[in-house]
Amino acid sequence: MIHFNTKLLHGKTSSGYEKGELLPPISQVSAFGYESMEELERVFEHKKMGYAYTRIGNPTLATLEQKISELEGGAGAVCCSSGMAAISAALLAICESGDEIIAGSGLYGGTIDLLHDLERFGIHTVFTKALTGEAVERLVTERTRVIFGELISNPALAVLDVPEVSDAAHAAGIPLFVDATTATPYLAKPLSLGADVVIHSTSKYLNGGGNSIGGIIVDGGSFSWDVKKHTALSEFKKYGKAAFLVRLRTDIWENLGGCMAPMNAYLTYIGMDTLGLRMERICSNADRIAGALAEIPGLEVNYLTLENHPYHTYVEKELNGYGGGILTFRAGTKEQAFQIINHLKYAMIASNIGDIRTLVIHPASTLYMHSGREEREAAGVYEDTVRVSVGIEDAEDLVRDFQEAVEEALRCRQ
Ligand SMILES: *Cc1c(COP(=O)(O)O)cnc(C)c1O
Repeated sequence: MIHFNTKLLHGKTSSGYEKGELLPPISQVSAFGYESMEELERVFEHKKMGYAYTRIGNPTLATLEQKISELEGGAGAVCCSSGMAAISAALLAICESGDEIIAGSGLYGGTIDLLHDLERFGIHTVFTKALTGEAVERLVTERTRVIFGELISNPALAVLDVPEVSDAAHAAGIPLFVDATTATPYLAKPLSLGADVVIHSTSKYLNGGGNSIGGIIVDGGSFSWDVKKHTALSEFKKYGKAAFLVRLRTDIWENLGGCMAPMNAYLTYIGMDTLGLRMERICSNADRIAGALAEIPGLEVNYLTLENHPYHTYVEKELNGYGGGILTFRAGTKEQAFQIINHLKYAMIASNIGDIRTLVIHPASTLYMHSGREEREAAGVYEDTVRVSVGIEDAEDLVRDFQEAVEEALRCRQ
């Protein structure tokens, strides 16, 4: 058996380039030229392997797709201009007007907004507070086409029971799509747990350096599409289990126009080489910060490895023994939350996660400003919630920084 980091560095994409390059060449071009018109015709007819135009295919993107697909154990992948581009393309590839999506309610704010947007196109989402097997059985209808959930929701930190939910979905002939951005393949491989499609915002942990926006859709290739139900795939019936992937690549993704930029694919590729190392350090730092903050009387801390966390058992069961890089705590009031955030020396105030630098934000006044209170609280966001995306700095410095900021704010309150 080959382990995570070795596989990451010595997979299929680590060699085989024309001049022996150890990293993928960057094809920073819009189009590809051919010697004869006949040749280009064959490329367009998919009779000859080749590239024509970057929006419909580019070798640097293909390398990243191969690398991530290999890591996830997928049949193929399509990389997109952002995580949101990936989620929209994936859903639009199998939903038509009149169709329904069942989704967890603690989703990423942008995803919730997108699902609301899709209502205007006749695609209805049924949100459920907890996306469980029982909820799927209860909510599924004739029109349900996909179940959508986040493996570790951000910032509520609810964990999706992938085997249970996928069993319920499959029993109804419906695929499970999982946004695994916050978990990364280092913590879990949803396809091996029963999910059918995995989506990442590569802008976060996969890239790791916070230097480019991107997204990816990985298809497990094992779902048996019934085109009588999934009529959006009816023209792609002949591709069997690859129907979704082919529809996505040669139709929806290509026509929506959300391809990843070649340079971003390269930056994501090189960032990913340290994914295992970063996640180990990030999770260990997060565990130490959460542990230290949990000892402060009156401070409510939300982190998966804390023993009182409702999803604590999933750390071993589904997440490779790790709690991930995100933690939240409730500061008491919005003012105290702001005071703590402003006091922190090393955590930077930014609306991002998965950076090597520790980032901090007040989600209620930023990421969730468009959500109503009920929707916000279902996502684990209260008026006084502080979200931390833990980086790779030295744990001692981070712990001290957070302890000082919190204690200072609590002292002012007294
Ligand atoms: C950031 C994020 C997205 C959206 O990704 P972008 O690259 O910002 O478009 C989707 N899902 C989750 C869980 C995220 O954290």
